[in-house]
Amino acid sequence: MTQPLLEMRDIVKSFSGVRALNGVSIKLARGEALSICGENGSGKSTLMKVLSGVWPYGSYEGDIFFEGQAVKAAGIRDTEALGIVIIHQELALVKELSVLENIFLGNELGSFAKLNDEDMYRRTRDLLKRVKLEVSPNTLVRDLGVGQQQLVEIAKALNKNVKLLILDEPTSSLTRNEIQILLNIVHDLKDQGIACIYISHKLDEVLDLSTWVAVIRDGDHIDTRSAAELTQNDIISMMVGRELEAL
Ligand code: ADP
Ligand code: MG
Repeated sequence: MTQPLLEMRDIVKSFSGVRALNGVSIKLARGEALSICGENGSGKSTLMKVLSGVWPYGSYEGDIFFEGQAVKAAGIRDTEALGIVIIHQELALVKELSVLENIFLGNELGSFAKLNDEDMYRRTRDLLKRVKLEVSPNTLVRDLGVGQQQLVEIAKALNKNVKLLILDEPTSSLTRNEIQILLNIVHDLKDQGIACIYISHKLDEVLDLSTWVAVIRDGDHIDTRSAAELTQNDIISMMVGRELEAL
């Protein structure tokens, strides 16, 4: 691997004394996608919450490096400033606001403070074009389908100058067609040098998208392998810890 963009080393995270993560390490470079596979409750979302600052520095053990610098985030604002953006399973858009308002929400004090309405409109239109979503910037989010809202979340991430996009089970409620659009966009982002961490139970998506596949089981890091040398059955065997024939 070239110089990693992200490295997480030996991450340990406990809840009331119970270990959810038991020393997990991952890394990835610019333009790569890493999928994290594991059964429900194995610790995937917890690892991403550590990475994105939902669980702040001090609440876990282990080290995080981004662009070679140690990350000691107090919250998600700190990681977003670095270019790490997470899209959670539960969408976080404000349904009663427009696409444009959602994309600029929380950015008022940032680098967009000087943008006038027309600039924001134009920028939103360009972002929507990048995620291939053909709706007006003034559309209310509540009038969009779940898949379209997912794309607005990605547009919002692109507006923040994202370097690492984390998608935690983004396709669980999308149609076949919406999934294909989302996968195409992630491929485009990789081509643009953006790194992606992808969490999904759909192993065809995982193999379609990934450079690397990391498997965790009960909070333990099992292995990280090149996606090119894995089959869906290989991943399932690693997830459950047995050869499939023996199941
Ligand atoms: P996954 O995303 O792989 O399904 P999670 O990371 O959500 O798994 O959960 C890993 C383990 O940590 C589970 O046993 C879960 O119950 C526990 N856990 C996650 N978040 C919390 C929390 N906020 N408080 C207590 N336990 C939690
Ligand atoms: Mg999860």
